[in-house]
This record gives sequence, C-alpha cells and structure tokens, in this order.
Amino acid sequence: MQATKNIPFFSFDATTELIRAEIKQVFDDFLESQWYILGDKLTQFESAYAAFNSTAHCIGVANGLDALHIALKTLNIGPGDEVIVPTNTFIATWLAVSYAGATIVPVEPDKATYNIDPNKIEAAITGKTKAIIPVHLYGQPCEMDKIMAIAIKHNLAVIEDNAQAHAATYNGQLTGSFGDINATSFYPTKNFGALGDGGALTTNNAELDKNARLLRNYGSSEKYHHEIVGLNSRLDEVQAAFLTIKLKYLAQWTAERQRIARVYSEQLTDINGLVLPVTATGASHVYHLYVIRTTRRDDLRAFLKNKGIATAIHYPIPAHLQKAYGGLGYKQGDYPIAEELAATSLSLPMNPGMAIEDVQCICSTVRSFYE
Ligand SMILES: *Cc1c(COP(=O)(O)O)cnc(C)c1O
Repeated sequence: MQATKNIPFFSFDATTELIRAEIKQVFDDFLESQWYILGDKLTQFESAYAAFNSTAHCIGVANGLDALHIALKTLNIGPGDEVIVPTNTFIATWLAVSYAGATIVPVEPDKATYNIDPNKIEAAITGKTKAIIPVHLYGQPCEMDKIMAIAIKHNLAVIEDNAQAHAATYNGQLTGSFGDINATSFYPTKNFGALGDGGALTTNNAELDKNARLLRNYGSSEKYHHEIVGLNSRLDEVQAAFLTIKLKYLAQWTAERQRIARVYSEQLTDINGLVLPVTATGASHVYHLYVIRTTRRDDLRAFLKNKGIATAIHYPIPAHLQKAYGGLGYKQGDYPIAEELAATSLSLPMNPGMAIEDVQCICSTVRSFYE
C-alpha cells in the first residue's frame, strides 16, 4: 500500500473536534467576564495542573523558555555559575542558561535513548556547577534515579525540562516532579498544548513557588510594590481556561500516541539500517515525537515526501553549531553524538487522532524504500 493522499506531519483536526464546543463556551464567557490576566481561570488551571503533575505548586508563565529562565532565577543561578545541559535538545534549554547569564556546560546523550547520558555528567561537574537540566526529549524520561543521585552527591539543583513529556513517568513517578523546580511548555503542538503560547513551572518547594510568582509578575505581589527585579511572563486567563479543558483529554491523547508508536515499532521492525526508538528500563515514553534514524535520512525523507508523506527533523543543527552560539567557539566534531543524531534522525507523523491506516501506510511506504 502506497500513500494515495497527503499525510501531514502534524494535524490539530481530531483534537479540535473534541474540544470545539467547550472552547467556544469559555471564550463566550470571557467576553462577559472581561478578566484577562491573573484571575480565577489561572488559579484553577494551576491547581489542576499541580494535581495532575503530583506537585504542590504550579506557576503559569508565558512560554516554556520563560519557565526555564525563571526556574534558573528562582535558584539564584547567574554569572559565574555553570549549568549542565544536554547537547541534544531544542535550543530553548541552552537559551535559558544564556538569559540567566550562567555558563552552558554541554553533555552528550546516550546513543540509545537520545537523552543526556547520566554516566557522562560527573566528568562535567566543577566547583562552579550549580544545576543540571535534564530534558525528557521526544517524550522519553531521562534516567532520573541516576541524575538525582548525582545531584544529591554534588549538592546541585535539578531543573527538569518537561516541555516534551507531559504525563510521562520514570519508575512510576511523573516527569516534572523530580527536580527542585521544573519547566514545561504549552506550545500548541506539544503533547499538552494551549491555543497559543504558554508554559509553567512545577515545584514542591514553597520558597521557590513564591519566588517564581514574583518573577513572572514584575517582582510584585502587591500592585506597584516591586520586591525583586522581575519579568512580565504570565499565562493569560484565556489560555489557562483552554488548558483546563484540554487537561481532561491528556490521558486519552497520550494513550493514542503510544498506540501509534506501537504500530510504527511493530511494522518497521527488522529493516536493515533503520534504528527505531528504544524505551529505557523504568521509563514510560509518551512519544511527543516518533524518531527513527538512518544514514540514508535525506533520501528517505525525499522519497516519503514524493509519496505525499510529510516528515520533520528534530533537530537538524545541534545547539553548539548554531550561529547564535558561534561566540562559544565550538566546531564540528566537538559533540559527535549530537552531530550524528542531527544527521540521521527523522520524525515520522505523530498526533493523537491520527488514523491507524495512515500509520500503516507510512510503514509500508518506508519499507518499500528499502526494498
Ligand atoms: C518547546 C520546548 C521548549 C520551549 O518552549 P516554548 O513554549 O516554545 O518557549 C523548551 N524545551 C524543549 C525541550 C522544548 O521542546
């Protein structure tokens, strides 16, 4: 079976249909209530998300990058401090450290899971290291038992970047609940997304919660009284209300992603030269992305495109080779694992509500490329 219609890389169609009536209703309510920033809808969502994520506190902010930046600021991390980040991540993880004014210390991923390799973290720790930011990339939790043990041993903070792993667990515990304070994004295409920009911090620490609330709102808890130099980074009421509606569906959408991934993994098995995602022991993968690898990546991608199947690359250029970080002086070859992943990774279509026939069609088309 070859593709006979266009299969997009991502589509909101199925999820939009489910929530359409409720979204319209809350939007109408807003036109009456006329309360848009820092109100009941945000408080309700923060309670709901904290409960969902099994953390005492949730602080809604404007986006995932701000959440990471604010997390670093709550921990007083700044110039002169070093922060360990993965080489294999979306650039926001690095940018947050840059915004905090701290020093980026990159660590290579495990070649099987693509997440930061816990066995390489200790070699990167110096007297200046203050924190580790594990990123649960593509929806797979990092090996949090090892990472937390290293952090405790060296007295380091942990900030999870949970932007791609809402509802994932490691040894039964939800990601976003391990670190001192954790960041997530509600960018529309994330596993749990708003209808616009959004993000949040989660923590069990009341002091960090208080600090984050000040930081997101001009350093102020009382209007025109500014205790610290803050930012303006608030999750607005409309997005908070939309997210409260969507949260009810997250378990269902996660299960659909996992089902789609299962079909991919069953039908793409045993193709010589094709590497399928591996789930680490103790991890539940929520498949923000289904990423395969092949040295023939660009040819396979063009072949699929020609058959009407859209794919994507996450990420084509590792952060250390981005123009934005030219000033750090890295060169090709400095982080060979991240570079190899950038050259060989291909993300196949993945979204809740996707027809299983489409998944099967993609699999048989990939197979035909190898025949
Ligand atoms: C999306 C993403 C972010 C940033 O989130 P925004 O809401 O787009 O600012 C941070 N880290 C990772 C791993 C992401 O995928």
